[in-house]
Order: sequence, then structure tokens, then C-alpha cells
Amino acid sequence: MLKLKGKSVYKGITTGPIIVLQKKDQQVKREKIEDPDAELKKLDIAVEESKKQLKELYDKAIKEVGEANADIFEVHQMMIEDQDYQEAIQNMIKTEQVNAEYAVAVTGDNFSEMFASMDDAYMKERAADVRDISNRLVRNLEGEQEIRLDSISPSIIVADDLTPSETVQMDKERILAFVTVHGSTNSHTAILARMMNIPALVGVKVDLNKVQSGMEAIVDGFKGEVIFGPNEDLLKETKARMKEEDEKLKLLQTLKGKENITLDGKKIDVFANIGNVGDIGYVLENDAGGIGLFRSEFLYLERNDFPTEEEQFQAYKQVVQTMAGKKVIIRTLDIGADKQVDYFNLEKEENPAMGYRAIRICLRQPDIFKTQLRALFRATMFGNLSIMYPMITATEEIERINKIVKEVEAELEAAGIPYKRPEQGIMIETPAAAMISDELAQMVDFFSIGTNDLTQYTLAIDRQNEKLDEFYNPHHKAILRMIKMVVDNAHQAGKWAGICGELGADLELTKTFLEMGVDELSVAPSMILKLRKEIRETSLS
Ligand code: PEP
Ligand code: MG
Repeated sequence: MLKLKGKSVYKGITTGPIIVLQKKDQQVKREKIEDPDAELKKLDIAVEESKKQLKELYDKAIKEVGEANADIFEVHQMMIEDQDYQEAIQNMIKTEQVNAEYAVAVTGDNFSEMFASMDDAYMKERAADVRDISNRLVRNLEGEQEIRLDSISPSIIVADDLTPSETVQMDKERILAFVTVHGSTNSHTAILARMMNIPALVGVKVDLNKVQSGMEAIVDGFKGEVIFGPNEDLLKETKARMKEEDEKLKLLQTLKGKENITLDGKKIDVFANIGNVGDIGYVLENDAGGIGLFRSEFLYLERNDFPTEEEQFQAYKQVVQTMAGKKVIIRTLDIGADKQVDYFNLEKEENPAMGYRAIRICLRQPDIFKTQLRALFRATMFGNLSIMYPMITATEEIERINKIVKEVEAELEAAGIPYKRPEQGIMIETPAAAMISDELAQMVDFFSIGTNDLTQYTLAIDRQNEKLDEFYNPHHKAILRMIKMVVDNAHQAGKWAGICGELGADLELTKTFLEMGVDELSVAPSMILKLRKEIRETSLS
């Protein structure tokens, strides 16, 4: 039995088998080889194995996401067989007498750089694909088992850390809990765990070589501990506690259909945060009054190429239609910082959280922005859609957004495409925006306070840096005063203000937020009914 502590991200308890996701060292070593023919044979086998995997992925994608999205796996099958690419690898093995892994990695880098430097936009985007197929080939050469996260049996995922694009691939029905060595309580894995209502621990100092897939574990989000290989007594006790928790959750269900109203009659909207169209199930299940934050960048993260206007339109339309007239606030893409997408070809930055991200990308690359805006405006015809812009710091940014929005409206009108003018608001997640919120309030329809980033920038604490968790105090007076100031400024201009960062779900602050006059709290679906219970038990008088 091995018991380890970690930081709990969601208070739940579960037991089940683990799956260890261990990333091999990405650095491929150069080795001198004696027998190039044997190395070429190894390469052939790995190419065949890769083609087989890509074919399977293609067949699966066709069934699940349609031909347009599956095509990329067909392109990859062709690229892996490309004569120039194959010859470059083979020549390197023969002439330099190096191992196949190294030859593939170097050739992959060279081809990828060559594509990236091309003028043609389509060819430029192939850079990420070459990198992808080369990584697959290296994995197969090293004999690394590919763990298909979409076809596991119900398991606890144990990993070093998980990127947002890894988590989006997972079949969420089959994940019992997350345990990660790295990652902060504010990371996107943490946000996802809260969305999915499953226990998760981050910062668990587990040696991934000492635990094996298939072994049983208990994840206890209340105590913040994980136990690998628990004994029978402990398993029995855990199952009894799981039953108790289930009963409590059942009790919460009785709050469905009830108002979010304090004992003395103050009402507040409680909405849900989502990242995917597939998350709407959690929204409906938990009886949210609307969607307060749809993190649209997840539509970009799941893929190898930009989502088209039509693909985005279909996604937004489905969300607003399913919400049937309830408010749906879709945030324009917030790529950059911790959410990196290869095909955006963003340069490496010293301080990505303070770098080229979110609205800055949209204003600098208006083509990407306009495609998304057109899709959003078209979807306004199918429900109650609002648009929200992230990472605002200045009034000039709103002016630039307005100009681009006007162009989009003119284009739609010229093409005879109908739309309704949506409510448009901004996120207040930089201290700059909070400080000038009086002026910003005159220019937009609403504010939604992003406390995750607002805390990061105000306290100068990287939200991804787990070493700083002890200094990360979201209850800091500076944050609470800013929230009050933003809400007051919104109200003075006759606008509404909500909170969509994690702090909105902090039950210790619910009363404070109600007293401040916050109009809306948008939280993980799993927190909706808990928050409703807290509100209904609060009295402000
Ligand atoms: C925030 O910063 O509080 C927020 C809601 O946005 P994200 O967590 O996606 O950065
Ligand atoms: Mg943010």
C-alpha cells in the first residue's frame, strides 16, 4: 500500500484500476549503428504500424466526427509514405550510420521547418503534420505502446501532467479520477475535473515507474490523498463513503427547478462554464440557468487545422439551440499561454501568459477572428447568444473590435445572411481592465470577471506554477476590492457584471458576492447545485 498526498481539485472519492500515462523523454538520442540494413527493416515495420494506426483513426473519426474532420488522418497516411520524406530518412541511416529514431526525428524537424517557411498558407500548415507523423514513427520505433485514451475501461488516470489537448481527446465517461505529478489547482486539468465531477489530485509526488497500469487505487479528494494498492478494509470503507457521497448528491438533486434566491429574497443568476459542445449534457443535468462561459478555444485545440466557419457555426448553433432560449455566452478564442496549438505557429515566448494570446492574436490576425465572428453572428438566429472578448486591457482594443465587428456585419448583409445583433461583453481579467472599468462599462453590454487570470496578474503569480500555490491567495483583499469596483462601475453604467473564474464557485465567498451585488456566477456544472444550496441558505439582512 502506498499512500501519497496531493492538492485536491475536486472533492469526491472513488476507487478503480489506474492507467499510467508516462511520456518518454522527447529527446531522441543519436546512436552509431553497425547494421544499416537491420535499421532500415526496423523503419519499414514502424512505417507499416503507423499506417495501420492512422487507418484505424481515420475509420473511427469518420464514424464519430464525419469525413471533413477525418480527412487529416488520410493526409497523414499519405505523408508518412511520401517518397522524399522516406528517402531522406533512409539516406541518413545509410550514409551516417545512425539509428532510425534519430534519422526520423532530424528529417521530421527539417521537413517541418521547410514547410513552415513556405509562403503558401496551406503548405505552411503542413509543418505541424510532419512533426506529428514523425513523432508517431519515433514512438513506434521505440516500441512505445500507444494508449488510446478514447477506448479505455473506466480508470483512474495517473500522469506526469496533462495538456488541454490530451484531455479533450479522452472519453470522459471512462475516467474515474485524475492524479498528476505536476499541474496547479488552477490548471486546465483541474478545471476539467471540476467540470466532470470527478476527484482529482495534482502535485502528487509519485514515481511513475513504481506504479503500474491495472493496479487498484483510491483517490480521496476530501483528504487530498491517493492510495495505491489499498487493502480490503480500506476498499470496503471507501465504497461505503462513496455511497454516502452519492446520497448527498442525490439530495442536491431536489434543488433542481428551484430558484437561486437568498432567505431574504435576493436573486442571482447561476450559469455554467463549458469547453465543448459535448459538455452541454452536464449543463442540463445540473439545471444551470444558462452558459456563462463557453471556452471556444477548445474547438481549436482538438484538431490539426483551423476549424472552418461552417464547423464553428454548427457547434455554436447546436449549443444555443440545445439551451433553448437560455443565455449562452461564447468567449472568442483564448489561444496562447497554456493553450498552445501547433498550427497557429506561434513563436516561443519567454512569458507566454503575458504574451501573444487571446484578443491580441485576434486583433493582429483578423482573418482568424472574422471567421469566428461570422460563425457566431450566424448562430445568433438560433437562440440567445452573447459574445465575450477575453484579455482586454484598453479602450482602444474595444474600438478595434467594434471596427472588425462592423466589417463582419457588412459582409453578412452583403451576402444576404441573416443575424441578430448579439449582446457583447468583455472579460475583466487584467488589473488594467479593472482599473478602467468605469470607461469600459460605457462601451460594452456586460462584464464577466475572470478571477483566474485577474489573480495571476494582480498577485504576479503564474497560475501554472505549482511551486507558488502557497502564495496564491484568491481571497486577497486586492482581488476582492477590484471585483467590488468592477461591479459598481458596471452598475453605474446600467450594465450587469458576473464572475466566471473559479472564485465564483468558492462557497466561502458566496455571501460576499451577493452583498457586492454580483449579478451572475458562472461555475463548473458540478458546482451549480452546491452553489444554489449555499445561496438558498444565506441571509443578507
Ligand atoms: C479566468 O481567467 O478567470 C477565466 C475564466 O478564463 P480562463 O480560465 O479560461 O483563462
Ligand atoms: Mg482567463
